[in-house]
Amino acid sequence: MATTSHVAPNFIEIFGKSLEMMREVWMAPNGQPFIVAGTGTLAMDMAAGNLIEKGDNALVISTGYFGERFKDILDRYGANTTILEAPVGEVVSIDAIENELRSKPYKVLTMTHVDTSTGVLVDPEPIAQLARKYDVLSILDGVCSVAGEEIKQEEWGVDVVLTGSQKAIGVPPGLALLVASQKAMEVWKNRKTPVSSYYSDWNNWLPIMKAYEERRPSYFGTPAVNLIVALEASLKIICAEKIANRVERHKNLAKAFRAGIEALNLETLPKTEKITANTLTAIYYPNGIDGAELRSKIATYDVIIAGGLLAEMKASYFRIGHMGSVSSSDLVAVLSALEMALLELGHSFESGKGLQAFQDTLLKSKRVALTM
Ligand code: PMP
Repeated sequence: MATTSHVAPNFIEIFGKSLEMMREVWMAPNGQPFIVAGTGTLAMDMAAGNLIEKGDNALVISTGYFGERFKDILDRYGANTTILEAPVGEVVSIDAIENELRSKPYKVLTMTHVDTSTGVLVDPEPIAQLARKYDVLSILDGVCSVAGEEIKQEEWGVDVVLTGSQKAIGVPPGLALLVASQKAMEVWKNRKTPVSSYYSDWNNWLPIMKAYEERRPSYFGTPAVNLIVALEASLKIICAEKIANRVERHKNLAKAFRAGIEALNLETLPKTEKITANTLTAIYYPNGIDGAELRSKIATYDVIIAGGLLAEMKASYFRIGHMGSVSSSDLVAVLSALEMALLELGHSFESGKGLQAFQDTLLKSKRVALTM
């Protein structure tokens, strides 16, 4: 479609519909959605910048690289930030979180649903419950989870759920997406000091979101029209698949993929199955195999995988994303490329083992679904 005007009737409808569908995907019928040009980091910046005032206490529950980023952002807005860091491959215990919340009055807490640096999955529901108990706003970094992992924002009582367009939502990079609860909007409205970031300030964006939802054109900063057209198309696909089915697809594919990885005698970063993400898998390189060499070998089979992201152990693991429109045939291709590259580099296992485990596990979950 040719780039349309941000005030053209067709675009106004697309923008309005996208905001409505976000509520459905986030499961937040009373939430306030925002669609702003930027990346996932801007969505983090918006949440922190609009809810934090200088001197507020903020708690970051960190399972990797992106927890540290949230601390940096909160600090930048003048928060007095405490970070609870889980050891690599683990989560912070609920008891540790409650002890910290009991120790002083916190304004917000943040958690990373799936930390893309470790592939660790956090269960947001009990943390959001604790936040409510201590009257703390909860912010969920869902960049690597929204539309891939289960999220029930309103039922769980999470105050902000944010993401970027490029992950499980399945749109090119370039949009910051977030939904804020009525409580978060109240706290923001009652601020004593102005939001110090001009671009992030909800004062500038809330009227725009309201106008488009009422199917009126409006202007603050020109919307990324092409990306919003793509967003509407993707949200329609997600709503047609139904979010529960989409989450189930991610779960089944991830489980089968992990079985394939295990069958190749490879080890993943998350310590238990329960805290392992369904949107990506972080895997240690086998002993004696050079990471860069493995990645370039895999690339010769037209499969691109990512290296490690945690600074202190970058060279010891790699990451494979499997979210959004991912299908079993994509993962068969990835496993096959991984097997061939590993065999070429001398890692020992029986050729085809990973693929076999993948197929067997996937078929098993299909059969379970049929008997339910
Ligand atoms: N949080 C998480 C969990 C992420 O995975 C990412 C991106 N990988 C971000 C935040 C930052 O998003 P972006 O790169 O779109 O700014």
